[in-house]
This record gives sequence, structure tokens and C-alpha cells, in this order.
Amino acid sequence: MAYPSALTRRPGSDKLRFECQSGCTKCCEQQGFVYLTEDDITRLARFVKLSPAAFEKQFVYRTKNLRRLRVPRHVQCIFLKPDGCSVHVAKPLQCRTFPYWPELVDDKREWLKTAKWCPGIGKGPLVQIESARAIAQTMRDANPLNY
Ligand code: SF4
Ligand code: SF4
Repeated sequence: MAYPSALTRRPGSDKLRFECQSGCTKCCEQQGFVYLTEDDITRLARFVKLSPAAFEKQFVYRTKNLRRLRVPRHVQCIFLKPDGCSVHVAKPLQCRTFPYWPELVDDKREWLKTAKWCPGIGKGPLVQIESARAIAQTMRDANPLNY
């Protein structure tokens, strides 16, 4: 994939550009896990009209220290459909906050690496680094064991 030409985060810059691109689902297709907060589970269960317990049984892998969506075969996320995220309005915090994750906002190299597959990075209005960091902090607060 070509490197986006509109990348604007340079050494010393405190601003980024990002605008999610209509019709794109690249971030949902990446290998990895969708970690869940307890609020995510409650919200998603309500959205798909299941009890939290029934939702958990069907969709959640839980250990003592983490909760995440189960990963089905042949697709990275069970909720990814041909026309996009089928739980968009109720999607997990991790999905809502991308790409303003701590490991991306605080590491220019990781931000630029992510730009190789996220076509929204480098596009759209300038975003103040403070705003991006505030969103990243919600991820940290929600997933203290991951950060
Ligand atoms: S990869 Fe980037 S542009 Fe595409 S849907 Fe995800 S956030 Fe939006
Ligand atoms: S929940 Fe929706 S936004 Fe999150 S990875 Fe799955 S399809 Fe993508």
C-alpha cells in the first residue's frame, strides 16, 4: 500500500490530522483483539437484544485480567459485515477511540506505521495533540492492565 502523501505529523509537531474515510473497514480487518470494558459488554448486549450473560457466553472471551471479543474463523471481528460495523452505534471503546490509542498518540513511529494501512491518517482537519491525548487517556483508564 502506498504511503499516504498527506502525513502531517513531523518531528516536533504537536498536531495530527485524521478523518475516518467513508466505506473503509481496514482497522476492523487488522489482526488483533478487540478488548472490552464492562460498559462495552452492557451496551453491546442491549444493542443486539441479548442479556449481558447471553452476550458474554456467545461473544466474549474472559480471563481474570481481560475481556475481549472472541475471534471467529475467517474474519477478525464477528460484527464486521460487508457494509461495515453492524454494531456501529454501540461499538467498543477501543474501536471508538482508534487511532487515538496511547501507543499511537505517544509514538510518532507507530502513528506513521499505522498510516500505512489507515487511509484516514493524514487527512481531514488538524487535531490538537492535547485532544488526542485526552482520548488516549480514556483508553488507559478503561484498560489499566494493558497500559
Ligand atoms: S482504517 Fe482508518 S479510515 Fe479506515 S475505518 Fe479505520 S479509522 Fe477509519
Ligand atoms: S466492533 Fe465494529 S468497529 Fe469494532 S472491530 Fe468489530 S466491526 Fe470493527
